[in-house]
Amino acid sequence: MSDASGELYRRATTLLPGGVNSPVRAMRAIGRDPIFIERGEGAELVDVDGNRYVDWVCSWGPLIAGHAHPDVVSAIGQAAAAGTSYGAPTAGEVELAAEIVDRVPSVEMVRMTSSGTEATMTAVRLARAVTGRDVILKFAGAYHGHVDGLLAEAGSGLATQGIPASPGVTAAAAADTRVVAWNDRAAVEQTLAQRPVAAILAEPYPGNMGVVGPEPGFLEFLRAAADDCGALLVFDEVISGFRVARGGAQERERVHPDLTALGKVIGGGLPAAALGGPRALMERLAPAGEVYQAGTLSGNPLAVAAGRATLALLDEEAYTRLAQTTEAIVAALREGAAEAGAAVQIQSVPGLFTVFFSPEPVRDYAGAQRCDLTAHGRFCRALLERGVYPPPSQFEAWFPSLAHEDRHLEQTATAAAEAFREATGT
Ligand SMILES: *Cc1c(COP(=O)(O)O)cnc(C)c1O
Repeated sequence: MSDASGELYRRATTLLPGGVNSPVRAMRAIGRDPIFIERGEGAELVDVDGNRYVDWVCSWGPLIAGHAHPDVVSAIGQAAAAGTSYGAPTAGEVELAAEIVDRVPSVEMVRMTSSGTEATMTAVRLARAVTGRDVILKFAGAYHGHVDGLLAEAGSGLATQGIPASPGVTAAAAADTRVVAWNDRAAVEQTLAQRPVAAILAEPYPGNMGVVGPEPGFLEFLRAAADDCGALLVFDEVISGFRVARGGAQERERVHPDLTALGKVIGGGLPAAALGGPRALMERLAPAGEVYQAGTLSGNPLAVAAGRATLALLDEEAYTRLAQTTEAIVAALREGAAEAGAAVQIQSVPGLFTVFFSPEPVRDYAGAQRCDLTAHGRFCRALLERGVYPPPSQFEAWFPSLAHEDRHLEQTATAAAEAFREATGT
């Protein structure tokens, strides 16, 4: 049996810290080495040893249309042939901005960046400039990119690696962050009463501690709480934007934030993200206003072309299909878990779900941390052995795409029925 992945990983560990360029890819949390990928085709991945997998990660969200969608590939090719970057404005970025504004209810203007991290970093800077306040309220288990001040009790890779914050973040950078339990109204009120807060920053549908939805009324409560104390409400829709609905979680929940961070889907697999909001706030950014923000590759023509081609595929029918795919796979996994007697909670919103190895519903980060990580690790390893590639961490979401077909769901359900038995030792 060839082991090209193993050989590449050994070489990678001599050249890249941990052998990877982003921690969760290392698969340490599920007790195995990473798989090196050769190519993606629709909802499938092919690794360097020729193994084929049903892909439920889809690059952690950007690939809502699957790998190498012909429309996206051709848009990138055409853009590349005309030059890859100019450092000057283009028509494409104006059209992408118009599409975002048309979709996302609270957004009138956007500033594009190359990563979600930059989008949330800009949101924080803008919120502080607008309010003249320093403190940011964030939720435990929410991930907003690797911004120094936002790493406190962040989910995603930090949760996966068991890192509470990060060495190298100064006390000063962390001092203005207040971390509160998700879905905990009293804790929010208490924090807002202590010091003036510039922004309440939330993933409206948290996906980075696994999928832990807001309890009924919680987002409305955050909107009212922010208004009462003069803070901005910032939604980080880097995952939920253009995925859970045409206009993101804010459209689905009818709660409109002041600022919105977007990413992942809007780059269609290339590096693009954005911050959006009403004109009065957005025009505080340079050069319209005095709040500095910039980027050599921001609004990159290839990323803009990939993003526009991807959004063009996302009509109402596409969202209906994505929701149906999500429901179908969730139902199949629930059935497999029940038959195996596995104590799991499958928590979902359209286009996202997590299989929590927990006997009770997960409502916050503490609940996610109580999951049986050993059983989860066994489950993921068993899936991989059967040609199904799940997110290799308990604290992440599965990402259904428009490329997942019935046969992918069937293969996943069959593999999962066995994997649940292996996970629980039955
Ligand atoms: C992925 C993610 C980010 C960071 O985006 P990058 O492009 O990885 O910098 C921020 N917020 C959320 C909710 C994310 O899921």
